[in-house]
Amino acid sequence: MEEKRKAIAQLIQKHQRFLIATHMNPDGDGVGSEIALALFLKRLGRDVEVCNETPLPRVFGFLDPEGEVEHFDPIRQKGATYSGDVIFILDIANWDRLGAMRDYVMNSSAAKLCIDHHASPGLEGCLNLIDPQACATGELVYDLIRSMGGQPEQRCAEALYVAIMTDTGSFRFQNTTPKTHRIAAHLLEAGADPSYIYQQVHEQSSYGRLRLLGAALVDLKTEEKNRLAWVKVTQAMMQQYGVENDELEGFVELPRSLRGVDLVILFLEAPQGMVRVSLRSKGNIDVHELASRFGGGGHNRASGIHLFAPLDEAIEKVLMEARKAVRSQK
Ligand code: 5GP
Ligand code: MN
Repeated sequence: MEEKRKAIAQLIQKHQRFLIATHMNPDGDGVGSEIALALFLKRLGRDVEVCNETPLPRVFGFLDPEGEVEHFDPIRQKGATYSGDVIFILDIANWDRLGAMRDYVMNSSAAKLCIDHHASPGLEGCLNLIDPQACATGELVYDLIRSMGGQPEQRCAEALYVAIMTDTGSFRFQNTTPKTHRIAAHLLEAGADPSYIYQQVHEQSSYGRLRLLGAALVDLKTEEKNRLAWVKVTQAMMQQYGVENDELEGFVELPRSLRGVDLVILFLEAPQGMVRVSLRSKGNIDVHELASRFGGGGHNRASGIHLFAPLDEAIEKVLMEARKAVRSQK
């Protein structure tokens, strides 16, 4: 790890133009990590672009008051590749997670660095800084900044706090460690306000989003004596309540509070015939293994799948495997 961090520090010292990207449908860890790293590099006088395949979800807009995080335009950039010096790819264990940006990044002659906390061998062709023990990619970005003698200033601390807060489920998932809290303490000292940040990220529901959450929960399904629970959100439901795709973060968390539940699944009908599946394990079920049977991935207790299939077909296919996984973990 130390060696890798040194190699990354050298690349930062040697080069001027940087691109930072995270996965499609970026979450708090992806967004917080990239904004924190961008602020750090800018303070070192580097030219930095942050660009993702998906527009920045509005809940994270407060981290980007100048609107600097860009949204990749596949039409304008068709066939192009990034022409700068170094690309940071954050919170990604699989090239496909870059979505429409994949070729722009992969075929670029820039040096490529992957910083991630998924259990993976890393991305081919990248210098990989990977630690599955880290609670969030934000933890690794924090360590990198500190190892280079950096001190997160307020905005950088806020972004890192968002990364760590969201990936640890507000410091309650099993990836929360003493180190997580030590970093969080330092980020508070650096000016991150936990109450303000929590409100920005988790208490900005529109009226429609709350009612959609209600409608989804009314239709909550359970099987295997409540050990398996799942909800679905269709495009029709989203239209009915006037909810956009970037407002669905957190929906999968609600059924977690069901007594005795081991496996929670959210099926989300996305545009263009795609279904997004979110899997969460509260026991010993390895949802990474379950997701990988469908070409998805993630972590042992939080994983996702993207399937091109009609919603009902996707639900049936995934449930068949989910039931087996629950039954095999008596
Ligand atoms: P979420 O359910 O919040 O979208 O994702 C949970 C975890 O699974 C995150 O670590 C995310 O990066 C990962 N993940 C979500 N969808 C996919 C996918 O289609 N492929 C892979 N490899 N990982 C995914
Ligand atoms: Mn993450």
